[in-house]
Amino acid sequence: MYNLHTHSFYCGHGSGTIKEYADRAEEAGFDVLGFSEHIPFCDGFLSKSRMAFDDFALYESDVMEEKSNRAFPVLLGYEVDYFDSRRAYYEEVKNRVDYLIAGTHYIFRSDGSVKGAFAPLDKEDMKYYAKQTIKALSSGLFSFFAHPDAYLSATPFDMEAKAIAIDILDAAEDCGVPLEINGNGIAAGRGYPSEDFWRLAAERGMPAVISSDAHKVSNLDKSLLAAEAFAEKMGIDILYPDKCNPLSFRKVPSKRS
Ligand SMILES: [Zn+2]
Ligand SMILES: [Zn+2]
Repeated sequence: MYNLHTHSFYCGHGSGTIKEYADRAEEAGFDVLGFSEHIPFCDGFLSKSRMAFDDFALYESDVMEEKSNRAFPVLLGYEVDYFDSRRAYYEEVKNRVDYLIAGTHYIFRSDGSVKGAFAPLDKEDMKYYAKQTIKALSSGLFSFFAHPDAYLSATPFDMEAKAIAIDILDAAEDCGVPLEINGNGIAAGRGYPSEDFWRLAAERGMPAVISSDAHKVSNLDKSLLAAEAFAEKMGIDILYPDKCNPLSFRKVPSKRS
C-alpha cells in the first residue's frame, strides 16, 4: 500500500500532524508514504487554500524527521497548481524536495473572477481547466496529475465535457504522466472520480495512480482503499511505486489478461 498525496494540518483545511500520518501509515503497513502539501507562494497567491509561506520550512523539517525515523520510505513533496509564470519557482522547489504533483483547483475567468474547479463549470471554464491541465502535463515537472476529473465535480458529462476528457487523456498519454484516481473525492461525496471519465481511460488500457488525498488521518488508508476499489470496478490497472525507487512507477501485470 502506498500514498503519495497526503495533506495535514499545515494546509489550513486539514487536520493531523505529519507524525500522526506517519504513525497511521506504519500501523496500516504502508510501503511508501509521500506528503504533498499545497505549495505556498511568497506573494500570498492562493493563500486561502494552503499553508502560510512562513510555515514551509517547518513542514519540510517535520517530513524530514519522519523520513529518518521510519523503516519505510517517507517522501517530501508538494501539490502544485501550474502556471507558466511561476515555473522558475516550481523548479527551485522541485530541486529541493523529492517530487511534485499537479492538480487544477482554480478557474481564472476572462472577466477577472476566480472560481473553484469543483464548482459547476461552463464551456469556457472547462476549456480553461483543460488548458491549464495540459500545460501541467507537458511541463515535465510532475510525477503524476491529481484528480484530473475534478472538473466533473458539479458539471454533467456532456459532449463538451467528454471532449475535455479526451484532450486530457491524450496529453497524459503523449507526455507519459500518470493520472490519479482520487479517494478523497469519494470520501467527500464529490463528482469524482468520475466513471464516465475513467471508462474512457479503461478503454485505452491506461493505468492509474491511486491516492487517498487525505486531509485527516483516519482517511489515509480508508480513502485509499476506496480509490483502489474504484480502479478495480473500472478495470483500471494500478501503478505501484518501486520500493527501491518509489517515484519510478511500474505497471503491474494486468489481472484481466
Ligand atoms: Zn487540500
Ligand atoms: Zn488537489
